[in-house]
Amino acid sequence: MKQRAEPEAGVLYLVGTPIGHLGDLSPRARALLVAVDTIACEDTRHSGQLLTALGSKARRCSFHQHNTHGRVPQLLSELSNGHSVAVISDAGLPGISDPGEELVAAARQAGHSVICIPGPCAATTALVSSGLPSNRFCFEGFLPARGRERRERLTTVVEEQRTTVLYEAPHRLVKLLEELRELCGDERALQVTRELTKRHEQQVGPTVIAALSHFREHSPQGEFTLVLGGAPQQQEALMSDDQCRQRLATLIDQGMKPSDAAKDLARSAGRSRRELYALMHVEEKEAD
Ligand code: SAM
Repeated sequence: MKQRAEPEAGVLYLVGTPIGHLGDLSPRARALLVAVDTIACEDTRHSGQLLTALGSKARRCSFHQHNTHGRVPQLLSELSNGHSVAVISDAGLPGISDPGEELVAAARQAGHSVICIPGPCAATTALVSSGLPSNRFCFEGFLPARGRERRERLTTVVEEQRTTVLYEAPHRLVKLLEELRELCGDERALQVTRELTKRHEQQVGPTVIAALSHFREHSPQGEFTLVLGGAPQQQEALMSDDQCRQRLATLIDQGMKPSDAAKDLARSAGRSRRELYALMHVEEKEAD
């Protein structure tokens, strides 16, 4: 099939670049990066090496989370002037835990065509090699670094029945594995992928406890993507709301923290921890 010539005037291209292995840059991406007018790079110095090696003479400008607001109108005006613009991030697909989303929305709103030249993405690469169900899945990217927001997001993640993909920085990996263990137990399926497509690519699993034991012994280094198996289907509720409240009150009277009491009761009551927290809060509010 004959393809149309690229790049076209006034079109915004999102270009996937390698996440490690330089051989993963597609011929189409390569040709586009050589011929396009402007390349918005997450980091011009980082991408400079790749672009120079390709022989790209395109104008380069920085485009990252701290200058998105100012850059979007500039890039839109380039598109309006009939220039072609490509966006690349340091690695992988722009717009996936990387800059791109706001520019694409603005470009579409302004009536410009947006075309993605697909390429590697750590999330999908990890997912399809994990052995976990990939017919339906969730992408969570990076969780909030700390605090209540992180806890709330984690609670949602562990109750999700679909496979979930997470990104995590190496210095926070063990903490995340400990949190997962606390919230979903030792045996939940988990595959931790390290340094995908690179020389020291590694897969560690198949459970939360296996990954935790490994990374407690081997200090995490490199880039990590986690693929967490979905929560088992909810059992039928085995205890009524009142029975749950009474049992929670007893456990807390016995000195258990509310979070531990909810965790302890969840399985035998056939209830999710979130439901049990809600019951506790109703009780607190009623007591006010
Ligand atoms: N846009 C990128 C993509 O499409 O995958 C993701 C960018 S995000 C800022 C970077 C995170 O992606 C890393 O911290 C890591 O969690 C994950 N990642 C990127 N490259 C990876 C690799 N080679 N192996 C494992 N995880 C990787």
